[in-house]
Amino acid sequence: MTDIVVVGSLNVDVVVPLHELPAPGQTVLGAADHRRTGGGKGANQAVAAARLGRRVAIVGAVGIDADGDWLLGLIAAEGVTTEAVLRAPRPTGQAIVLVTADGDSTIAVSSGANMWLAPEHLAPLRDLLGSARAVLLQQEVDAAVVAEAVRLAEGLVVLNPAPARPVDPATLARVDVLVPNRGELAALAGAPTPDVGVDGLAAMARSLGTRGPVVVTLGGDGALVVTTDRQWLVPAEQVDAVDATGAGDTFCAALADALLDGAAIDEAARWASRAAAVTVTRAGAMAAAPRRAEVPTVA
Ligand code: ADP
Repeated sequence: MTDIVVVGSLNVDVVVPLHELPAPGQTVLGAADHRRTGGGKGANQAVAAARLGRRVAIVGAVGIDADGDWLLGLIAAEGVTTEAVLRAPRPTGQAIVLVTADGDSTIAVSSGANMWLAPEHLAPLRDLLGSARAVLLQQEVDAAVVAEAVRLAEGLVVLNPAPARPVDPATLARVDVLVPNRGELAALAGAPTPDVGVDGLAAMARSLGTRGPVVVTLGGDGALVVTTDRQWLVPAEQVDAVDATGAGDTFCAALADALLDGAAIDEAARWASRAAAVTVTRAGAMAAAPRRAEVPTVA
């Protein structure tokens, strides 16, 4: 049986280090040190869960191209089952990531095959989705695909509503654990600004109508666990931050991992926060996800 089925995006990330980000119309030359890495929130979360020791399958789409072959080989080598990744008549998704040494970045994503995936593609995957102990989703695939996958899921449903976009009420009502960051929460709640205190965030979370807790990730400020009757802040681990890319992806994967072990939501959020903190100490997204033995256990 599969522990976690991830339904989401698979991208090739081309990371281009620059001294300064180009203005519109400008060309900026970097050095000869760009990197090509596996990416996409779906692939990142699948690899993070596999590194924590979970049996993971990913549902998604890549192109019938060399990028697709390369990406599938990369995540299969991490132990992720890729049989349910379709080959689309579209190019494999690409993200062009321009970064400066200060950590400023500009990212352009061409979704390609990821947005080709349609709800009807999930029909043959009904057994996989229905038998998974947990289904973990993000929003870099079509909203109708997310809705259909949630409808077919019979286990725990964890939704990371990133990037921000509205989610239909029927889908939200089936979500067991929602993991937005501050901006995604405000977008879902239709709030004018995410810059409100903890009580304001908790009120937004409770307004959404999910059937379980909402865990709001707050970057270096930690994570806020919100249930119907209480809210609780999990402080961030104190680490030397190198690159926060991928922290949210590791957080979601580790949260699902702990919940499958039967952890209560508070305990699961603490585990997720320790795992995400390891990711923050390393460069890259997918590559920075920790193996289980690398996540500190508390005394
Ligand atoms: P996203 O990238 O999805 O917006 P966040 O930036 O909120 O996600 O980060 C997710 C989680 O990673 C946080 O809730 C926190 O646990 C951890 N994290 C992020 N930044 C740091 C940091 N500087 N130090 C320690 N932990 C961090």
